[in-house]
Amino acid sequence: MEKRYEATMIMSAVGDAMGYKNGSWEFQMSQNTITKEYERFNGLENIVIDKKNWRLSDDTIMHMATAIAITRPENTDFNSICEQIALAYIRCMEDMGGRAPGRQTMNSVGLMTKGFSSKEPLKWNEIPYANGGGGCGGAMRSMCIGLKYWNESQIDDLIALSIESGRITHNHPVGFLGAMVSALFTSFAIQNVDPKLWGTKLMCEGLPKAKEYLKKTENDTNRKWENYVRGWNYFEDAWKAYLKLRKIPLSLDDALSAEQPTYPEFPETYGYMERMAFYQSVSFDGWGGSSGHDSVIISYDALLGAGSDWKEMVERAIIHAGDNDSTGAIGCAWWGALYGMESVPLNNYDKIEYKPIIVGLSKAIFKSLEIPHDQK
Ligand SMILES: [Mg+2]
Repeated sequence: MEKRYEATMIMSAVGDAMGYKNGSWEFQMSQNTITKEYERFNGLENIVIDKKNWRLSDDTIMHMATAIAITRPENTDFNSICEQIALAYIRCMEDMGGRAPGRQTMNSVGLMTKGFSSKEPLKWNEIPYANGGGGCGGAMRSMCIGLKYWNESQIDDLIALSIESGRITHNHPVGFLGAMVSALFTSFAIQNVDPKLWGTKLMCEGLPKAKEYLKKTENDTNRKWENYVRGWNYFEDAWKAYLKLRKIPLSLDDALSAEQPTYPEFPETYGYMERMAFYQSVSFDGWGGSSGHDSVIISYDALLGAGSDWKEMVERAIIHAGDNDSTGAIGCAWWGALYGMESVPLNNYDKIEYKPIIVGLSKAIFKSLEIPHDQK
């Protein structure tokens, strides 16, 4: 199990670095170009991820920041964990040169940073509601929260913290619900829940609990439920439509009663071009994976289609002309949590930037678990 924790963190970094490819793949809008460049490597074992040609992008730097915050020993209550997350996000901005951080994240972190403007810095829970805060900046960095609160009985803690980890910069349902899904699906992987059921469990368990939490933490200023309704519906409708498309049941009873599940159903031909068209169709403005909802839908679609096949996972989650470092970071975290990294070529991760720190963080999370795993 400790190895699976490591694989979650490391494979996420690999997905990010590969999708980013120092900016040339993340911002490559032509599917043909990215497919050709990928095929020129002639096999994944020839892709040597190192700190020069395949730097980590903002996704991993911020995922590491989340992991640092949730493993601080002085964290004894919810408020102090959230304060630590804010602090870690502020600090990690010093390491963003050449890593293409998102605008919404920089704006919100700026508001919390002392001396950034003449005004007093905002606290972690004071970030204003943002109409344009539906980006994937929250979703790309919360997977490790699902490692920390991995047990079924910890779902309330997982939902509260993952929502706040997103809302701290992306105070918009599409943004912070994406963060919740990244963490929730990581915990499902660690619990060995069949990935086929994750979407249904999101509808039946995750979203109702999220709504409860949002109502509980509602206020009259920056956290009004009435401001959230549209974004909430957009996120929920996008997931419902996706599950229906893949013939995945929306109710848990239906999902579990199917003796020989025939879902998920994929189109007969579903290669690079078909996938890109689908990724675009679920996106907000044509760049698949750049929002809170489609980053996790595309990652999930890739995971369901790839199974335990690493090459297939890379081609579905990373080799597309959308926001592929984020779908890589999220999808490959889930993939690593499920399957470990024994089948992954050493070249893909052995020389990755910050490897010792990332491995160290995975060990720190594993050590800090409130509910440890059975060491059998
Ligand atoms: Mg990035």
